[in-house]
Amino acid sequence: MKSALFLVITAFLASCAGPAVRSSSGHDAWGHRPGPRGFKTVIIDAGHGGRDDGATSRHTGQKEKDLTLDMVKRIKSELGGSFRTVLMRGNDTFVDLDDRVIGANRFGDAILISMHFNSGPSHVRGPETYYWRVDSHGLATRLQHAMTAVSPVESSNRGLVRRRLRLTRNPEIPCVLLEGGYLSNPEESRLIANPGYRQKLASAIASAIRTQAAIGDAGTGPLPSPLNEPPSRASDARE
Ligand SMILES: [Zn+2]
Repeated sequence: MKSALFLVITAFLASCAGPAVRSSSGHDAWGHRPGPRGFKTVIIDAGHGGRDDGATSRHTGQKEKDLTLDMVKRIKSELGGSFRTVLMRGNDTFVDLDDRVIGANRFGDAILISMHFNSGPSHVRGPETYYWRVDSHGLATRLQHAMTAVSPVESSNRGLVRRRLRLTRNPEIPCVLLEGGYLSNPEESRLIANPGYRQKLASAIASAIRTQAAIGDAGTGPLPSPLNEPPSRASDARE
């Protein structure tokens, strides 16, 4: 009897105490749940940095680490005051991937967006979004759609890729890795070199984040199946 009464009281307290829109983005090691809604913090990670240049465009000479840093600042300013935004790095410094995971896990009510630019065969172009966790699928869908809408070549949608990377599998919060386009493609690298294009890309990304916070996964299709795989290690695959 005693425990039943306790349950009734705690249920009552929980229903009164919480905000009207409950966030669903607290810590969860596996992420086998619907996508986040009502989150307050957006962690924006600029890929590479310091001694790690990432890709370098042979068409424009630009380095991925500089472009990702430029992008995260644009995304932060596009998000404005509606979220607490945290930059994983705000200057040209090297941060180990595992330290980025630890950094992301400091925040409970948050999502993580890791920004990159791609490199591959010179004819390949278009944005690409990586995710792993079930709770990151809707967010990934929105972000991929947003980036593709900005990209001028419709056929260049590279789509979603479910891949177990350190920044898609290991954080305990919803997390996605964005590839904003190919620095190895002559036309796309010139587009990416244009600050106006990067601003449009940043604005589209910010808008997708706002939509996810407002309505969660609504309209992003069925959730993928839960996958139980160990955390990603440095020795696993390319990142
Ligand atoms: Zn990269």
